[in-house]
Amino acid sequence: MLVDRYGRVATDLRVSLTDRCNLRCTYCMPEEGLAWLPRQDVLTDDEVVRLVRIAVERLGVREVRFTGGEPLLRRGLVDIVAACARLEPRPELSLTTNAVGLARVAGALADAGLDRVNGSLDTLRPDRFETLTHRRRLDDVLAGLAAAREAGLDPIKINAVLMRGVNDDEAPELLAWALEHGYELRFIEQMPLDAQHGWDRATMVTAEEILASLQTVFSLTPLGDVERGSAPAETWLVGGGPARVGVIASVTRPFCGSCDRTRLTAEGQVRNCLFAREESDLRGAMRSGADDAELARRWEVAMAGKAAGHGIDDPGFLQPSRPMSAIGG
Ligand code: SAM
Ligand code: SF4
Repeated sequence: MLVDRYGRVATDLRVSLTDRCNLRCTYCMPEEGLAWLPRQDVLTDDEVVRLVRIAVERLGVREVRFTGGEPLLRRGLVDIVAACARLEPRPELSLTTNAVGLARVAGALADAGLDRVNGSLDTLRPDRFETLTHRRRLDDVLAGLAAAREAGLDPIKINAVLMRGVNDDEAPELLAWALEHGYELRFIEQMPLDAQHGWDRATMVTAEEILASLQTVFSLTPLGDVERGSAPAETWLVGGGPARVGVIASVTRPFCGSCDRTRLTAEGQVRNCLFAREESDLRGAMRSGADDAELARRWEVAMAGKAAGHGIDDPGFLQPSRPMSAIGG
């Protein structure tokens, strides 16, 4: 098992399949100038599947989420999903995606065994979409999400990040749209993970502000921590339910005490936290001939050293040197 010294057990694996992306969300990537990882440093499809297999068979991982960068840019995605769906015990398989191009592959992904999709969408206005992502792809995103629903990938959750002065007035509009389409919307507080290091605690849109904005239009009833478990979203019933909305208050109400995640970067480095400053190199060990038992042991050691919390509010906090796109969100 992947247990740390605080007794937390990691059962949820996030696998970054690429650091590349076809959007440039301002809270994640600079518009230009971010160098991609060299191809030979990125795990091959077989290497990804081997590490996922070790996590599932030997380390107690039960959920695997593919992310990036943009995981749909990974050519072998459908085959990787299919191989992971054949593992015993079969893990739950999900994908976090910006949904650009999802319309083309949603059916194949569902057939391969993908269970769920989280799409990311911060605005419904084409001009704002372009300001936020530096690309004009809103229609692609909407088509991709619709195709995922058609393909039976359920539930479809939508992640939205609000930025002050850009889209912080859009929370009620986004929720009305999500309810209309049967998507589960969750707002995520912006975290200091952008490659440009432009995050500012003082101007970040807080969970409290997001809820206040939603409550100008909707009545919200908290579902409370009982149902929250280790899921990072705190959930509210909208208009008495059954519709829901979530808020992931990673900064103002951290959930590190119940974190159950372990992460693998596209280069095959284990990270025990999004904000970790150290990584453990499984790719190097694997390419030097380490067997499954040795790789599992290294993964356990990497997780044992997980810090108690992300420490964003500590005076000595240092942003990780890798941006979110290279860690895997
Ligand atoms: N490209 C895919 C996507 O956008 O869904 C997967 C990777 S992306 C890094 C995963 C999630 O992280 C997205 O929902 C995105 O909005 C979120 N994200 C990226 N940078 C963030 C930041 N600085 N703070 C909070 N969430 C962030
Ligand atoms: Fe790309 Fe996702 Fe980062 Fe946006 S949040 S730039 S879609 S990796």
